[in-house]
Amino acid sequence: NKQIILAERPKGMPDQNTFRFVKQDVGELKEGQVLVRTLYVSVDPYMRGRMEDTESYVEPYKVNEVIEGGAIGEVIDSKSDRFQQGDVVLGMFGWQEYYIANEKELRKIDPSLAPISTHLGILGMTGLTAYFGLLDIGQPKEGETVVISGAAGAVGSVVGQIAKIKGARVVGIAGSDEKIQYLQEELQFDEGINYRSTKNMEEALKEACPDGIDVYFDNVGGEISDAVFTQLNRYARIPVCGAISSYNLEKTDLGPRVQATLIKKSALMQGFTVGNYANRFNEGAMQLGQWLQEGKLTYRETIKEGFENIPNAFLDLFKGNNVGKLLVKVADR
Ligand code: NDP
Repeated sequence: NKQIILAERPKGMPDQNTFRFVKQDVGELKEGQVLVRTLYVSVDPYMRGRMEDTESYVEPYKVNEVIEGGAIGEVIDSKSDRFQQGDVVLGMFGWQEYYIANEKELRKIDPSLAPISTHLGILGMTGLTAYFGLLDIGQPKEGETVVISGAAGAVGSVVGQIAKIKGARVVGIAGSDEKIQYLQEELQFDEGINYRSTKNMEEALKEACPDGIDVYFDNVGGEISDAVFTQLNRYARIPVCGAISSYNLEKTDLGPRVQATLIKKSALMQGFTVGNYANRFNEGAMQLGQWLQEGKLTYRETIKEGFENIPNAFLDLFKGNNVGKLLVKVADR
């Protein structure tokens, strides 16, 4: 059984030395347990936070322990009444080829409804993050302008499409011309801004948002957000979902103060984690599934192949080498 453990806590950007591949016996199944063979693993920006030894909403990873994270697998042996061989399951078993799970740790997935990988993306954690963050905190209304940073990623691409469903004008910020083209042509965003090639973000935003910005769904923080803040409308809402631009900074970059803007604009800025909405996950997943079926939502996945490529895939998140949800396919079903 191959596993990937945290070899050392990274300082700044993680690299190959952050991780180590090890081999371990799988162990014996006990009553109430199932043996799972991993099919897909999710790599997510929040995992960078768990590599730090600091208090957060999830426990830090321990050095020399397997990197935990969302994964999909197939039951290959079972001593549980709830699961049978061949069942497809979702769990947090993370970066390992096989895993002995207690039955309570797993949720069964119906492979006939949608491709199983979608339960790590649009129908899973990142889709739900988009759904609740935008609708509960952002509350876009018809005709309002919604700006999204990290717009071509797993969360951002869903946020923009939901905002379109709600009748908003949608402007996405992302890091390449290909991504902007994807947003405008495939996802029907009204405008897109490539922050890497744009010299003056404030001007570009002014042009893309002639009526100002009513909702800013923030996935990245930093200078991109500083520019967005200059264009906020009165009573703007800002769901603070992520701050990936700061995850690898050794010293937190405070940047310009936004308080004065919040006051002047009576704007609401609220951080959240998707876990806050755990008791509404069913509602969110049903609605996302319905929109998907109706063709109102589409999605892309960037799927890397092979267990040995998991660390590289994780590092790709910080290079912007993904459109939509980034996953690693470890084995065929
Ligand atoms: P994405 O699929 O969006 O992948 C990350 C993307 O971030 C990259 O593709 C890259 O795109 C962009 N990026 C990387 N570095 C920078 C940088 N320095 N400045 C600006 N953009 C950068 O990941 P997710 O959709 O999974 O996550 C998006 C955000 O949402 C993250 O911040 C994550 O932590 C957060 N999140 C929060 C949750 C919550 O519960 N609050 C749950 C899930 C995610 P580009 O080419 O455009 O630069």
